Amino acid sequence: MARIKLKELRIERLWCKGCGICVAFCPTRVLEMDAGDKAVAVRVEDCTACGRCALRCPDLAITVEKEEGQKKPERKGAVRRGVPRSTD
Ligand code: SF4
Ligand code: SF4
Repeated sequence: MARIKLKELRIERLWCKGCGICVAFCPTRVLEMDAGDKAVAVRVEDCTACGRCALRCPDLAITVEKEEGQKKPERKGAVRRGVPRSTD
């Protein structure tokens, strides 16, 4: 299975209020708070483009762009939920 590649990770410094949520939720420890209490990407090469930081940021300060044409793989064995059809 091909790994999703990061195209760009952008943090709008002016919008960041320094809550640290993105740092706490990043599974690969890409992000840290700097001396000015702003989030910064210190290990961008470890970013898996999962998007958790962008999803959790209350100020929409983070944008995660994936390489063109890549999307999250569907879970194997996923079953569509719906109303079961009657058998009679
Ligand atoms: S979650 Fe958003 S506001 Fe909070 S530290 Fe990260 S970038 Fe800044
Ligand atoms: S996209 Fe995922 S791996 Fe990359 S910095 Fe955000 S939370 Fe971390």
